[in-house]
Amino acid sequence: MAVVDHLEDSVPHPITVDPRPQVERGPDGLRRVTGRRCRSCGEVAAYTWPRCPSCRDAVEQASFGPDGTVWSATVVRIPVPGRTPPYALAYVDLDDGPRVLAHVRAPVDAATATAPAIGSRVRLAACSADGDIQVEVLA
Ligand SMILES: [Zn+2]
Repeated sequence: MAVVDHLEDSVPHPITVDPRPQVERGPDGLRRVTGRRCRSCGEVAAYTWPRCPSCRDAVEQASFGPDGTVWSATVVRIPVPGRTPPYALAYVDLDDGPRVLAHVRAPVDAATATAPAIGSRVRLAACSADGDIQVEVLA
């Protein structure tokens, strides 16, 4: 007999949903990632979880951004289906929020493609036509 946790019913099956974090545009025109924050320990997640992944306590909906700091970045120079190299990817620590993987919006050509420096400040931008999270480097 299978044991069913009733909390699992409140979360869509992961295979049926887009696994990328969701970005929404607020009334101020700025974009934020929708996620969860634990009421007890403050753990944040860019995904829907029924319980805190750290302490299993209750979570509440939260939004993170619009700005963040580059934790790591790279330029992808190999062909990948659906993507045209070169393009830059960055792990971004959203302010008071989780770390997300984002495409870096920038004019990129094969000769000069560079990734943003670690510690660069970035802002969430409109998602790509394919639904990828994108950021712009702040001056
Ligand atoms: Zn917690």
